[in-house]
Amino acid sequence: MNFCSDGLQALEPYIPGEQPQVADLVKLNTNENPYGPSPQVIAAIAQAAQQGLQLYPDPLSLRLRQAIAQHHASAGIDAAQVFVGNGSDEVLGHAFRALFVRPGRKLLMPDISYSFYKVYCQLHGIEMQQVPLREDWRIAVEDYLAIDPASCAGVVLANPNAPTGMALPLQDIERLAAHFTQSAVLIDEAYVDFGAQSAVQLVARYPNLLVVHTLSKSWALAGLRVGFAMAQAPLIEALVRVKDSFNSYPLGRLAQVGAQAALQDWAYYRDCTARIVATRQALAQALQQRGFEVLPSCANFLFVRHRQHAGAQLYAGLRERQVLVRHFDKPRLGEHLRISIGTPEQSQALLAALDALL
Ligand SMILES: *Cc1c(COP(=O)(O)O)cnc(C)c1O
Repeated sequence: MNFCSDGLQALEPYIPGEQPQVADLVKLNTNENPYGPSPQVIAAIAQAAQQGLQLYPDPLSLRLRQAIAQHHASAGIDAAQVFVGNGSDEVLGHAFRALFVRPGRKLLMPDISYSFYKVYCQLHGIEMQQVPLREDWRIAVEDYLAIDPASCAGVVLANPNAPTGMALPLQDIERLAAHFTQSAVLIDEAYVDFGAQSAVQLVARYPNLLVVHTLSKSWALAGLRVGFAMAQAPLIEALVRVKDSFNSYPLGRLAQVGAQAALQDWAYYRDCTARIVATRQALAQALQQRGFEVLPSCANFLFVRHRQHAGAQLYAGLRERQVLVRHFDKPRLGEHLRISIGTPEQSQALLAALDALL
């Protein structure tokens, strides 16, 4: 007996990285932040837990949106230009529903990118056109500019891209926004704080641009589930229409106050981010010395391939030695590993396990 639609049956859901229930693993598989959130976040959540949990939260998350706008004030963002959701995955899901369901047109995206994009397309019946990365793993903006914008439902890119970690310069994002004027250009900046240029400063000039951020990576709050989007008000209103047709209260009280406290303590996160970038550089060098090719990363992970050893074997060997990294069993990616940047101690544990293996 089959109670759901053929479309749902045919869809391949996203598979998140493993969250093992055993302790003592060196966990470098889901790009979590090794340093944990600001102490002010914990204090704000503890205080909010004392009172008011019997009441629904603010459905508009106004204070949080104001704190996000404040953090991006130099780009001229105000609260009406901010949308928040239960993790950026939810923000992305709503954005696909709101902006890219345009029958007869195709949504452009890189063939190798965050694999959730394809799932949202299947879920919402959006046709996609995957634009191949170049041989050197680069997103070539020229390839997108060669496509007739009238045939497109929009563009979605992760910048830096996942799982390569490579970033596009701001001018390239601007060229996309200027070419696809009649459809939305969504830039998923989950990793932008680790070294890429944010397109948020283009929002004031491009009414078709939607920039999506998450508190899960640089803000060390993957467990709280908060993501947000910034765009001119009409795009934000389209996302709000979807949200209010789905769940009026996507963020609980604790998530709203915790996220707000995080955004008000950027100094703490700036330090953590600088440490992660330094650890990334040291680890990239150590891996190169051990025979790995390492793509230039602007994110909190490295995408690497060993010259002699197969990706699947390395993954399994590391796992046996209590080190968990991410391996994608997919065309073109199978020889690679994606390694999240942890603490310097976690890097040492990874390198020790590799030295035992190689
Ligand atoms: C981690 C990640 C997300 C999801 O973040 P959440 O806010 O935790 O849902 C979105 N896009 C990319 C490219 C990511 O790597």
